[in-house]
Amino acid sequence: MKALRHLIAGGSLLIALPLRLGAQVTEWPVHSMERPVPRLVKPAPPAAPVAPPSDAMVLFAGGTLAAWEGARGGAAAWRVTEQGFEVVPGAGAIRTRAAFGDAQFHIEWRSPVPPAGEGQDRGNSGVFLMERYEIQVLDSYQNRTYADGQAAAVYGQHPPLVNASRPPGQWQTYDIVFRRPRFDSAGSVVSPARITLLHNGVLVQDGVLLTGPVGHRERRPYEAHADRLPLALQDHGQRVQFRNVWVRSLEEVPAAP
Ligand code: MG
Repeated sequence: MKALRHLIAGGSLLIALPLRLGAQVTEWPVHSMERPVPRLVKPAPPAAPVAPPSDAMVLFAGGTLAAWEGARGGAAAWRVTEQGFEVVPGAGAIRTRAAFGDAQFHIEWRSPVPPAGEGQDRGNSGVFLMERYEIQVLDSYQNRTYADGQAAAVYGQHPPLVNASRPPGQWQTYDIVFRRPRFDSAGSVVSPARITLLHNGVLVQDGVLLTGPVGHRERRPYEAHADRLPLALQDHGQRVQFRNVWVRSLEEVPAAP
């Protein structure tokens, strides 16, 4: 564990060395086009919105973005539509007014039709846990990009196990189990953030450990932060839609030895 803390604390080391986090290794350079692309899995057809269980906090059930605000302050300036809400390009990210630590999130999204652009410029948005740890939202249906940047990737770190994308225009689901990173009083990482993710009901992230906050073309070291922070959605300039967003706060479990 000491070695792990060392690695995580030493930002420059992260670039120079393969990073070992438990049994998981991130050996590929960030955004490598050589990194193998996950195989395709055709998920079940889209279904009606998945209703929240009794202990969930509903973050969007239609009609109003009252649970959200602009990430730069003020009201959430995204557009509420008949079926959900939509990114307004240039309006900036939005985030929840409430803050979360360990939590289970359910989010539904769909990318625009007809699809426009390619690679990272097609249906790009993102789910930012604690405003730092991004699960990529992208139209990855017949759209090649780097493996660690496609839909359901932990951006720049972990490609999904498989590509379970539905075609653009169809609603897709993310079910996320998130364990926040733990820091000691000196701000060093005691245990990294951990993510499990189902994309359209298919397991695509299996308890992966994060190397730090996401970055574009960089692997950023952890910086100590609050135990609870908002969930944010990214404005990447494309009119991605969302609906039916809810969260269950989880009881915290002690850090793994
Ligand atoms: Mg994104």
